[in-house]
Amino acid sequence: MDIENYFSANYQAARGKFLQLCEARGFTVDAYQNDRAKAPDGSDLFLDVAMLGSADAEHLLMLFSGTHGVEGYCGSGIQSALVGESVFGGLGPNLRIVLVHAVNPYGFAHDRRVNEDNIDLNRNFLDFAHEVPSDNGYGDIHAHLVPEAWEGETRVQADAALAQYAKDNGPGALQHAASGGQYTHSNGVFYGGETLSWSAETVLALVKEVAEPARRACFIDFHTGLGPYGYGEMIAAGSRAQVDRTFEIYRDYEVTDPDAGTSTSAPIQGTMAHGVERALPDVETYFVALEYGTLSLKEVMTAVRADNWLYQFGSLDSPLGRDIKRQVRDAFYCDEAKWKSMLYERALDVVNSTLRELQR
Ligand SMILES: [Zn+2]
Repeated sequence: MDIENYFSANYQAARGKFLQLCEARGFTVDAYQNDRAKAPDGSDLFLDVAMLGSADAEHLLMLFSGTHGVEGYCGSGIQSALVGESVFGGLGPNLRIVLVHAVNPYGFAHDRRVNEDNIDLNRNFLDFAHEVPSDNGYGDIHAHLVPEAWEGETRVQADAALAQYAKDNGPGALQHAASGGQYTHSNGVFYGGETLSWSAETVLALVKEVAEPARRACFIDFHTGLGPYGYGEMIAAGSRAQVDRTFEIYRDYEVTDPDAGTSTSAPIQGTMAHGVERALPDVETYFVALEYGTLSLKEVMTAVRADNWLYQFGSLDSPLGRDIKRQVRDAFYCDEAKWKSMLYERALDVVNSTLRELQR
């Protein structure tokens, strides 16, 4: 099958394709329903899990899609292509593969990055009982990121204020304050929540169940929106030790580290990489976010702000509402054959390298 055909036009089609391919290739499939939310057409939403290989295998590879909802077009297409092209056929007895489809099914189905509670899941994996998140200065710019009116003079002033903030605080400061993760404005952007979300709880329980018996576990989470068009930046994340281990197994690749300032991503808190690592104190863990570029950073940030504005102040059923929905989808999913083949080639290379490394 052409690689392009593994990608789907909506969440339901993506889910159907993924499940059908996994079942045809001998994966065991489980569905977890998110009963807190529905798709736009009122249908149910699921986080699906497909597993191949022995439950007591020494090595585990786990691939996640749709942590940021709308970014699931990318991750789902890659997962389906890897399964459909039999990349996981003929595995050794000591290796187990677990694919998690649509970590945030609400966001995927509604073309949003956030979940049903406006939470950015990749800021939500905090230990809320013991960790106090740091304040990146988000409060200074919240009102400008999400002005009450998206068009006209209010918006012009808001953009001017953000430009001034960037000028006053130096390069990277605006991105860090906006996207580093904030826990003070539940109606704002890049909000990390105040408790673990349904998706984070489901992922952590699953990770414990499947990865605890393993000695080594490698996690790859597919994202879109940062960096050059179609390029998959390998971002190592988690504790210093996990980042160092990840650098070591991918020593032949250019791997970046937000904390060292080498990534297109700002340093962020409450990532899935941190959550997974904390859940598995006795496992040697590795974590990479494979981040694929789409449009410019400015266009992507504007789409994130517009989406937040739309659900807070706007109307989905209006010309502006429909325009924003299209803008958000375009910012996280380039519906072009060339982009999709770039995504797959990179993912295939990284996955094959991971499989070799785990079986060394
Ligand atoms: Zn993302």
